[in-house]
Amino acid sequence: DRLISARAGEYEEVQDRAIRPTLLAEYVGQPTVREQMDIFISAARGRQEALDHVLIFGPPGLGKTTLANIIANEMGVSIKTTSGPVLEKAGDLAAMLTNLEEGDVLFIDEIHRLSAAVEEVLYPAMEDYQLDIMIGEGPAARSIKLDLPPFTLVGATTRAGLLTSPLRDRFGIVQRLEFYNTEDLTSIILRSARLSSVSVDEAGAFEIARRSRGTPRIANRLLRRVRDFAEVRSDGRITSDIADQALNMLKVDNQGFDHMDRRLLLAMIEKFDGGPVGVESLAAAISEERGTIEDVLEPFLIQQGYMVRTPRGRMVTSNAYQHFGVIPPKSGRE
Ligand code: ADP
Repeated sequence: DRLISARAGEYEEVQDRAIRPTLLAEYVGQPTVREQMDIFISAARGRQEALDHVLIFGPPGLGKTTLANIIANEMGVSIKTTSGPVLEKAGDLAAMLTNLEEGDVLFIDEIHRLSAAVEEVLYPAMEDYQLDIMIGEGPAARSIKLDLPPFTLVGATTRAGLLTSPLRDRFGIVQRLEFYNTEDLTSIILRSARLSSVSVDEAGAFEIARRSRGTPRIANRLLRRVRDFAEVRSDGRITSDIADQALNMLKVDNQGFDHMDRRLLLAMIEKFDGGPVGVESLAAAISEERGTIEDVLEPFLIQQGYMVRTPRGRMVTSNAYQHFGVIPPKSGRE
C-alpha cells in the first residue's frame, strides 16, 4: 500500500478516533472555513433552525469527514453517515432520511457517486424536506409523499466539478478545503503526539509536517511510522534527525513525494518530453487509475508548482526538472 495514500485504512480509522478534533476550535488551519462555519453555526443555533446544507470539497485526507462531525457536534445534533456508492437505490436513501430527527446531519461522503435515481429523491428532500418516492412496481406501484423533519445535508466530494449542477445548486454553504501549510501540520502532529503519548520535539514535528503532502491524514500516518523507527533505532524520542532518517527509509523524499509522485513526474519527463500529455495516456503509462491521478496525485503536485494543467494536457514545470536533476529540452517549453 502507498504510504502517503490519502485514503484511510480500517485499522487507521480506529486509531484516528482518539485524535480526531471534535470542536471547531480544535480544527487546525483552514481559517476561512473555520470563520465562516463559526458564524453560520452560531446563527442557525440562535434561530433554533437546522443549518443550511453544506458541500465540502477537497482532496482526500484534508478533513471533510472531520468537519462534518464537528458541524453536528457544534449544532448539538446527531450525525448519520453514508456514502454515494452505498446508496444504491432510492429506497436506501429513503431509509436514511426517514431515520433523521429534527436538525440532524446526514453526511454523504463521495456524494458525486450518487446514481441519478437517488439524486432525484434528494432534491425535494433538500429543498422542501419532502420525501417523494415510488414504491412497488408495475400496476401496483404507487407514489408516497412524506414530510421530513428539517435536517442538514453535508456532502463531501474530492472535486466540485464532479457534481451535477442541480445538486450543487441546492447547497446553501459551499466550503473548499485547501492543502495545509507546514506550520498547521506541525501543530496537528504535536497535538496528535500529545494525545497518543508520542515523544516528539518541535523540530521533529516540523520535519514530518514538511514531508506530509499538505495533508493531515498523511501527517498522522507518518508520525506513527516515524515513532516505530524512533523506538527501534533510538530512544523513542522523535527529533528532526530521527524523522529525516525514518522518512528516508520510508522513501518519502525531501519534498514529501513518494514513489507514485516520482513515477508520475518522471513518466511525463521521460516518456512525454514534459508534456502536454492527456490524463488517459498518463494513466496508462504509469498503470494507475485516471481518478487517482486526478484526485490524489496531481492536486498536490500542481499546488506545489511541479506540474500544470493546460487545455492541451498536463505539463511538468522547471521545478520538476530541477527536482530530478534533469536538463529540460530546448524546445522553449518550461
Ligand atoms: P477526509 O474526509 O477529507 O478524507 P478526514 O476528515 O477523515 O479527511 O481527516 C483525516 C484525518 O486527519 C482525521 O482523522 C483527523 O485526525 C485529521 N485531520 C483532518 N483535518 C484536521 C484538522 N483541520 N485539524 C486536525 N486534524 C485534522
